[in-house]
Amino acid sequence: MRLFRVEPIGRETEEVESFSSYVLRLAKAHGVSVGRLLTDLKAAYARDNPEWHEETITDAKPATLADMVRPIDSAAELLEVVEHYTGVSGLRATTFQALRQACYRSVGLFHNHLRWCPACFEEDLNLGMTPYFRLLWAFKDVTHCHKHGVPIIMRCPKCFGRQNSTSRVRGIHLCRKCKAPLLEQHRSEETPDQSEKTDYRDLRELTGYVASNPALVFEDGAARRLLQAIFDRVWELEDEREFWKILPKEQSLMISYSDKKLTMKMLRRIAYRLGISLPGLLAGEVECWTPQLDPRWLSELPANLNPAKRPRKHNRSALLARLQEFRQTVDPGEPPPLVAVAKEIGISTGGMEYLFPAISNEIKGAYQKWKIEDKERKRLEATAAVFEYLASDRSPKSRKDALRVIREQTGLPKNVLRDVISQSFDSVKDSL
Ligand SMILES: [Zn+2]
Ligand SMILES: [Zn+2]
Repeated sequence: MRLFRVEPIGRETEEVESFSSYVLRLAKAHGVSVGRLLTDLKAAYARDNPEWHEETITDAKPATLADMVRPIDSAAELLEVVEHYTGVSGLRATTFQALRQACYRSVGLFHNHLRWCPACFEEDLNLGMTPYFRLLWAFKDVTHCHKHGVPIIMRCPKCFGRQNSTSRVRGIHLCRKCKAPLLEQHRSEETPDQSEKTDYRDLRELTGYVASNPALVFEDGAARRLLQAIFDRVWELEDEREFWKILPKEQSLMISYSDKKLTMKMLRRIAYRLGISLPGLLAGEVECWTPQLDPRWLSELPANLNPAKRPRKHNRSALLARLQEFRQTVDPGEPPPLVAVAKEIGISTGGMEYLFPAISNEIKGAYQKWKIEDKERKRLEATAAVFEYLASDRSPKSRKDALRVIREQTGLPKNVLRDVISQSFDSVKDSL
């Protein structure tokens, strides 16, 4: 068995054809129904691959045409079979198989039905092209066409039928039930400004990225690892308050340190807030984030990314035991900073603050207090040393010489010494 080498439309662009659409066109090209095509393909594959058993390629074809783009096993198998008999490679890029390994939850990400923009269909026809279903339209949040502003629809404007049938295909843009063109609806509709409904550039970006990388696999945990790196960096910033205004601290900690699965919506929201690309975040690309406070972080979320409350969940007893053990070895005369304690017990500063807020505050308080006292102590020591220098018969005396000599003697930090030397020299000058 050999099938025509039908090429997917819009390869490597965010306008890429969906695999559902490709299968429809493939069936049409061979003058058979989608159901027939799938049955024949499976039978041929079984014949040509004697080692093939029901358990390797399941009987379950994707439940609907819409399911063919989802990151599920049955769709992956179908892809393999279709590529085999058409000789067309890279069809994976017409699906979201790239999301298959990633274990963040994609509940509600994809729509259950085949949907289309009637204006896009019409534009295709006017341009003399074959109308086709875009992969982008598989996303549930893509409710309106970003090019035409009209609603993405899933029912025939004439008979209100859905388009999931695996029956014979007369034309992609013709209703599978009543044969009416799937174009009419948008004409009657007033289309005021839909800009907030078409603000899904992250999904467009993701589609374009997937379309350009047929072998792409978004690795499980890549996004979380990148976020942990980002948050750890933020904790080291001088002024991190602006950042937490954008991404609430509590939420960031939960994302990084709870073992709860991240949802796609959560990841989209974070990518949006941090001004980083969604595919970059999913791929865990460090380059997609520059560790500088960026005003774009202050961008308002589009309506479809509204946050929902998430429960907290974590396991902390082992860490707590380690933490308590370490704290007993600490010299109270020189308490360590939180970052050192966190490092010692093997988590980040952020993780510490999340899991042990009271202890963290205690550690931070003790360190701050010690730091202030230590600074005062160093200052007194420096003042005494400078007085001694000024009273000595060393000649000629200069600030530079004082700094060198006293630093050698005491090992005190330069900035403290400079400060004290400057003040002392000034007051000596005044008294002359
Ligand atoms: Zn459109
Ligand atoms: Zn119809």
